[in-house]
Amino acid sequence: MTPVDLHCHSNISDGLLPPDEVVRKAHARGCQLFALTDHDDTRGLALAKATADALGMAFINGVEISVSWGKHTLHVVGLGFDAENPALLDGLAYVRSGRVERAERMAAALEKLGIEGILEGARAHADNPEMISRSHFARFLIETGRCKDMKSVFKKFMVRGKPGFVEHEWARLHDAIDWIRGAGGVAVLAHPGRYDMGNETMRVLLTEFKRLGGEAIEVVSGSHGHADVGRFNHLAKEFGYLCSSGSDYHATGEGAREPGLNADLPIGCEPVWTRWAPDLKPVGSPSGDLVG
Ligand code: AMP
Ligand code: MN
Ligand code: MN
Ligand code: MN
Repeated sequence: MTPVDLHCHSNISDGLLPPDEVVRKAHARGCQLFALTDHDDTRGLALAKATADALGMAFINGVEISVSWGKHTLHVVGLGFDAENPALLDGLAYVRSGRVERAERMAAALEKLGIEGILEGARAHADNPEMISRSHFARFLIETGRCKDMKSVFKKFMVRGKPGFVEHEWARLHDAIDWIRGAGGVAVLAHPGRYDMGNETMRVLLTEFKRLGGEAIEVVSGSHGHADVGRFNHLAKEFGYLCSSGSDYHATGEGAREPGLNADLPIGCEPVWTRWAPDLKPVGSPSGDLVG
């Protein structure tokens, strides 16, 4: 395992724990370099950094920006930026601004199925009202016994083609990358294995992301299976990307992932974190198999 986690959520977006508790949990599991990457919001970073500083764990600022790219929704992680940068903060405020109206449309669609009180129910789960998300709707649907877990509730209600999914325009890809780079950060394509696109479209995306200034892709991710790790290791090399690694932790009990440690990057991957932690080397097992 590698003691790095560059993708984690707190209750500033759709995670369950407050920023300081996520940091403590990652540290307790042995993490040495940590980034908090809440969706579209940086307001957890100050508390997370103060907590990491007190524990002596290296911390870098992070965010996960929601992007519309054609019909696809992509997530772009920004790492190591200046969290006071006005253009970045304005951009994120703009991305957040559509969420309440989107939630109202999601609730209206789900109420047609006879699910009453869903907007209030989802809101009750969203500690940050600006960041109401599908995860908060999903938690309400589980709490009221309509589904047993996150996986099934997304499949049944929350993905494109299902009743709780509504179209929404997020940030444009070039804007998200410009905001991150303009604030001195590195733009990372999050969990590429999760996007519902064929290999040719993925290659177009990787070409475009690079052209616009993207520098890294997540190779190890809580959202990736073994085959995804191998596939994106090869694509990272071919396209000249640095490699990132993150659990995408949201909550204990929702999926298997816990924060703080991740499987080693495959041998030959160039880690994105060398600029922040030059001495922290990933250790690939000789067979190339992932450990843990
Ligand atoms: P939103 O930003 O409101 O569209 O919500 C997206 C969030 O929903 C993601 O960041 C994940 O936390 C969660 N999510 C998306 N798809 C799934 C899925 N298939 N299973 C579980 N959680 C999911
Ligand atoms: Mn999420
Ligand atoms: Mn994501
Ligand atoms: Mn995430």
